Amino acid sequence: MTMQQTPADDRCPPSTCDSSALLLGLVNTAPLAGGRDRLTVPEDLSAWLAHAGLPGAGTSVTGADVAAARELRDAFTMIFRAHSGCEDGEAALPAAEEYLQRIAHRYPLVPRLDADGCHLVPAQDGILGGFGALFAAAADLAARGGWARLKMCKNPTCYTGFFDKTRNSSGLYCSTACSTRMAARAYRSRVKNA
Ligand SMILES: [Zn+2]
Repeated sequence: MTMQQTPADDRCPPSTCDSSALLLGLVNTAPLAGGRDRLTVPEDLSAWLAHAGLPGAGTSVTGADVAAARELRDAFTMIFRAHSGCEDGEAALPAAEEYLQRIAHRYPLVPRLDADGCHLVPAQDGILGGFGALFAAAADLAARGGWARLKMCKNPTCYTGFFDKTRNSSGLYCSTACSTRMAARAYRSRVKNA
């Protein structure tokens, strides 16, 4: 780490970006703009686990695992929508938080301690360890101050999950294209209602 880095960079060292990439990869399996849901059948979940480098991929993945993955995805999505101030995210937030708190015991984490530091890793192997890695990633981001920077784009035709790299954590859109589109829409709405 060098002194030239900005505060935003400090919040996004490589392991934080691994954690954010994992969680964003999960929420971004949702169907966007009429696309296909990429967590529909066990083969989808197995492929996603393998792509993310998580344990649990293989023929033992069941339909119940897919349902569990989608419930986790929905809960994380609602929290990230709340982070970007989406009203539906804020309304659904208590249920999402309650859900994650209730099921977290299924995916216990243990500290892995060495001379460089200490971080939490899943206590289990297989798909339970794969799901546990999502909680470990959330804990890692929260410990580094990056948790609230995981957001869903506020453009309702986008809703892509993204890591907000703005200096003051004020980003609402995944890209310049989305912020420009939404600014144009707001302008048209003001002209129409004037
Ligand atoms: Zn977007």
